[in-house]
Amino acid sequence: MSPQTTELLRDRRRPELHRVVVIGSGFGGLIAAKKLKRADVEVTLISRTNHHLFQPLLYQVATGILSEGEIAPATREVLRRQGNVRVLLGDVTDISLENRTVTSQSNRGTTVTPYDSVIVAAGAKTSYFGNDGFAPFAPGLKSIDDALDIRARIMGAFEDAELETDPTKRAASMTFVVVGAGATGVEMAGQISELSRRTLRREFRLIDPRDARIVLIDALDSVLGNFGSKLSAGAAARLEKLGVEVWLGEKVVAVDESGLTTEDSSGKRTTTASKTIIWAAGVRASALGQTLAEQSGITLDRAGRVPVRPDCTLPNHPEVFVIGDMMTLHDLPGVAQVAMQQGAYAAKAIQRRLAGREPQKDFSYFDKGTLATVSRFNAVANVGPLRFGGFIAWVLWLVVHLMYLVGFKNRVTTVLHWAVSFVGRGRAERAIPRARLDPVHYEPADAAA
Ligand SMILES: Cc1cc2nc3c(=O)[nH]c(=O)nc-3n(C[C@H](O)[C@H](O)[C@H](O)COP(=O)(O)OP(=O)(O)OC[C@H]3O[C@@H](n4cnc5c(N)ncnc54)[C@H](O)[C@@H]3O)c2cc1C
Repeated sequence: MSPQTTELLRDRRRPELHRVVVIGSGFGGLIAAKKLKRADVEVTLISRTNHHLFQPLLYQVATGILSEGEIAPATREVLRRQGNVRVLLGDVTDISLENRTVTSQSNRGTTVTPYDSVIVAAGAKTSYFGNDGFAPFAPGLKSIDDALDIRARIMGAFEDAELETDPTKRAASMTFVVVGAGATGVEMAGQISELSRRTLRREFRLIDPRDARIVLIDALDSVLGNFGSKLSAGAAARLEKLGVEVWLGEKVVAVDESGLTTEDSSGKRTTTASKTIIWAAGVRASALGQTLAEQSGITLDRAGRVPVRPDCTLPNHPEVFVIGDMMTLHDLPGVAQVAMQQGAYAAKAIQRRLAGREPQKDFSYFDKGTLATVSRFNAVANVGPLRFGGFIAWVLWLVVHLMYLVGFKNRVTTVLHWAVSFVGRGRAERAIPRARLDPVHYEPADAAA
């Protein structure tokens, strides 16, 4: 099939319109497209998913609290009232700086989209630090697919344990290991604990789900290190109270179907049998950074991020903006607020150029603070000079996350699901699709049987 060029689809009445291509429907891409609402430009947003994903709540999908629809509204629906945006589903495989085109692949074939300005916001993916062989046994948590896979593994592990008569194998099914003690790892470990201790406690006959062993591992020596030593120690103590074993200073050196092996600073190795391992240890920027580097002669940093100029553009290419998790600038953290503020900045820069106005000042990040939950009613907060933990931080977390969730309907159903899970014991989203019952060995051809 020959490549289709989206030029053919252009508004022929306004061929002079400036063409902005936005790559990615995440935090950076979506805000950039929205901020161009009143601009006299033609926007094409290309993303490999048909939805905008609110990644901070992925762990709640993975542990059965929320449904995927609540945190992943269709991008098309979000932008339905914005007439100057066209949304295309496609995996971007190339950006030609010379021809100013973006090439994407979909079931339909290859699509080539020309641009006058491009905003690259393709985010990051899970990194196994060169050990990609770990991936089938230790999925990361970056997408809806990952969250549903992990949910099936967790729920399926309890089912396996109930059926298992060999005590050693049963113990492996009842052992849950989370690698990485940053916010995602802590949230996952805390929620698996609450699931086993509260939600499932009276539902099985052979096993007692409260016996589940939950291990949180990190190569560094603190939990939630970026929150400071006091909150970090408090979070570790809270996790231990929830029954989570916290192993710090332990590097994962092997992962396979039967479990994982860690090594401490003295070289001592420990092997743990586990059927459910979750990787929350690292990310690497989208491979599109490499495509840009090869053509522009820049060097990516160790995490594959593009070093951008202070105005978020690619060196020597003022028409190319690289934002969010894909870029590096002044050591900014890989968080949603950076991506959103850069998306708004890039949209404004394009509009000022088109209006012939002076460029804006360099991008400067306004840090609104950081929050992470440890368990229900317990979170930690880093807001300006204030660092605090406990119930008030948890209420703040609740309000902030509701505020940033996209869509009124999603906010209402999320509040209901939170009430069911946090005030009550239930979890609404526990179904395991049959095809996911054995994720490591699942072969799609078997599913029809
Ligand atoms: C589990 C988890 C929890 C988090 N919790 C928090 C939190 O509590 N607070 C916080 O501030 N941040 C949090 N983050 C980080 C935050 O989500 C990211 O910093 C933010 O999403 C970055 O925005 P982005 O636009 O750069 O990338 P993303 O939001 O990741 O968006 C990337 C987009 O690009 C698309 N894409 C990727 N490759 C291609 C391609 N080749 N072709 C087409 N489309 C492509 C993707 O489908 C996606 O739509 C969390 C991240 C994770 C994974």
